[in-house]
Amino acid sequence: HPRVVVIGAGIVGCALADELTSRGWRDVTVLDQGPLFATGGSSSHAPGLVFQTNPSKTMTAFAAYTVDKFSRLSLDGRWCFRAVGGLEVAATRQRWHDLERKLGLARCWGVRAELVDARECARMWPMLDPERVYGGLYTPDDGLAKAVRAGEAQARAAMARGASFLAHHTVVGIERDGGRVTGVVTDRGTFPADIAVSAAGFWGPAVGRMAGVEVPLLPMAHQYAYTAPVEGVDNPPELEASRPLLRHQDRDLYFREHTDRIGIGSYAHRPLPVRLEDVAEYDRAAVMPSMLEFTAADFEPSWQDSVELLPALADSKVEEGFNGVFSFTPDGMPLLGESRRLPGFWLAEAVWVTHSAGAAKAVAEWMTEGRTETDVHECDVHRFEDAQLSPAYVSDRGKQSFVEVYDVVHPLQPMEHPRPLRTSPFFARQRELGAFFLEGGGWERPYWYGANEPLVEAADEGRGRDPWSARYWSPIVGAEARATREGVALYDMTPLKRLEVAGPGALAFLQHATTNQIDRKPGTVAYTLLLDPGGGVRSDLTVARLDEDAFQVGVSSNLDVDWLRTHLPADGSVVLREITAGTCCIGVWGPLARDLVQPLSGDDLSHTGFGFFKARRVHIGHVPVLAMRVSYVGELGWELYTDADLGLRLWDTLWEAGRGLGAVAAGRAAFNSLRLEKGYRLAGTDMTSEHDPYEAGLGFAVKLEKGEFIGRDAAAAAAERAPRRRLGCLTLDDPDRVVMGREPVLVDGRPAGYVTSAGYSTTLGRGVAYAWLPAEAADPGTGVAVEYFGEPLAATVAAEPLVDPEMARIRR
Ligand code: FAD
Repeated sequence: HPRVVVIGAGIVGCALADELTSRGWRDVTVLDQGPLFATGGSSSHAPGLVFQTNPSKTMTAFAAYTVDKFSRLSLDGRWCFRAVGGLEVAATRQRWHDLERKLGLARCWGVRAELVDARECARMWPMLDPERVYGGLYTPDDGLAKAVRAGEAQARAAMARGASFLAHHTVVGIERDGGRVTGVVTDRGTFPADIAVSAAGFWGPAVGRMAGVEVPLLPMAHQYAYTAPVEGVDNPPELEASRPLLRHQDRDLYFREHTDRIGIGSYAHRPLPVRLEDVAEYDRAAVMPSMLEFTAADFEPSWQDSVELLPALADSKVEEGFNGVFSFTPDGMPLLGESRRLPGFWLAEAVWVTHSAGAAKAVAEWMTEGRTETDVHECDVHRFEDAQLSPAYVSDRGKQSFVEVYDVVHPLQPMEHPRPLRTSPFFARQRELGAFFLEGGGWERPYWYGANEPLVEAADEGRGRDPWSARYWSPIVGAEARATREGVALYDMTPLKRLEVAGPGALAFLQHATTNQIDRKPGTVAYTLLLDPGGGVRSDLTVARLDEDAFQVGVSSNLDVDWLRTHLPADGSVVLREITAGTCCIGVWGPLARDLVQPLSGDDLSHTGFGFFKARRVHIGHVPVLAMRVSYVGELGWELYTDADLGLRLWDTLWEAGRGLGAVAAGRAAFNSLRLEKGYRLAGTDMTSEHDPYEAGLGFAVKLEKGEFIGRDAAAAAAERAPRRRLGCLTLDDPDRVVMGREPVLVDGRPAGYVTSAGYSTTLGRGVAYAWLPAEAADPGTGVAVEYFGEPLAATVAAEPLVDPEMARIRR
């Protein structure tokens, strides 16, 4: 087994050593600059509140595993986790309404939860003023973790299997040879290593620099205060607390008991970014480096809010407090995985105590087996685009994710700053057309165009849209969808990432990396999947064979680029180059697409001259383009790719020609509605590495007979077994209702699945949703319900795709 050196003996480093050694990797050394196990890092003073419910399925699974594991741990007879329960109160109607959505998330991911009224809240927390709250969300299995104890208990288990833990070893460098990690250098000598894992918490960027790896993480302070003893709070010291953890999200506050006192955490203050240089100085002052001086003035409003919710606190006071430092990332998610910059260098950072054991388990599986049981694409270190790694971006976004920790964040809510960051060549035209932009991967992406307002019909008005689903939505979306089905529309597809894969080894490489038959005639496009070694769907791709040895590959995200790069042959026979920047793409789709494009081109664009799933270089007016006859919206048409400098010319040429045909520009929201109608899945949302291709309805893209490819054996096994669950299509029975995604699906009144993506179908005139369903409830015609803000909405499993199953609209 490889020699592993873990940097950091906080809760993450300890958990990782345990998870690795329990998988048989015994040569594990954990180094920390501080003492063991109260090292001085964030874990040393974390109050240890564990709330499991999270919009992310992955994070909820991490938390559930942590709770389960810590519940079974003890240190010298003392507990590591106590399920005192969690209570999140709502002080406003909106928050109460949002708790109904949170209840839905809990039910999606299997966390026990119920809504309770104000009286019940006051029964659980007698100090609480019931007049102040509408009620709360009670989660009985949430509770308190003792981070240092749980860390030591896991460390002892690891040491019993051969791991060693060394205090007072400050890591100062990472040694490398032949492009790989070979050792970890400390102030007390060098430790040979095949794998170095940075579990250095908020020091991550400093350790990253030693390895030449950018770590997009911002250390920030968060205030935590203790009151003086409070009348009526009287817990045995060894138990610490008996009442549930209390969250008051309307004021960005949380509370827990500490024997006879109350601890109060606040996210209400201004963001307090911390420079690592300043932390180091504090260290020399022999104070816990992650505990900065309490800035009492910042806490003052939070104290007032605390007294308002818990009036008995008026007789008490803040006795002590500190500004504790921990990690914030641009999207609030952890940083896990091996850096491609330096093979052998892994990150396990920006992880809360809440998720620590689950995240460590995932990293251990990833290292030892090459895949994880829980899908981790949202946590993968390679998810960021280059523009998202600049220090200014990391700082701006880190502060924003601090502000949003307890906010009600809408699934479509864009970042506010920095914008615009990335724009396509059509940006100026899109603005002229009144585009409403949302942001994704740093790109400005039009969701709809104000210019299409006159096309809105009564049916588009969305009578049933509640305030939540009406956010980031306009009736124009329906008009654009209809215009695409009836006429022709231009879609900016520039942000879809694309690669050039070329060289004598290119075909063999793509055949090995993906599932479908890529060995087709030049000029052909294939839809294919990336599986992980366990047969889970990592992603989907379109591969256009341009020449014998040259391909253009459309991928879903940076993670695909990273995955493909790591699987490139070492002999240099394949060159992979990302060409997203520097090129652009317009999708021209709709029954009139050919009428628009053919007059602009001397090339034969007829159905016989340019068939479906074919790719060719043609000219549109003055612009040379690579045209691909594919359509994610399920209509006749092409994706037209050209160089960025020619983009505006291409847009203007198409726009001029489209005038006579009533062509419109259409946005992502219409696009999403149309792709749902066609049953085209969105990788990472509809299916992840937790799903095999057959249950996801993608078996058609797997060609087991073509020979060896990554995940083939597992896929072959999956093809043989009857799936337990299926990704199915639902239509909502009430034509006025829509859902958003991540709602529980009830079968016979009980949560049995969850919605992945959803929207409104203009063609059908009702809401549609894709959802994971138990196999026995996945047959068309089955009646189920989607629980939306606590309300069960009747829905029916539909035969898919909903629109044009014969593909007559596309193949003509
Ligand atoms: P750490 O515990 O910081 O461990 C990193 C270790 O790396 C440290 O021991 C450090 O000494 C060592 N290290 C760094 N650089 C080097 C080097 N060069 N050489 C050797 N060693 C090095 N989370 C929750 O889940 N629930 C909560 O209620 C909660 N409340 C919080 C309240 C406060 C005030 C704070 C500050 C944080 C809170 N958190 C909470 C967050 C949680 O504490 C952290 O996310 C978590 O402890 C991070 O664990 P870690 O192991 O990654 O980092």
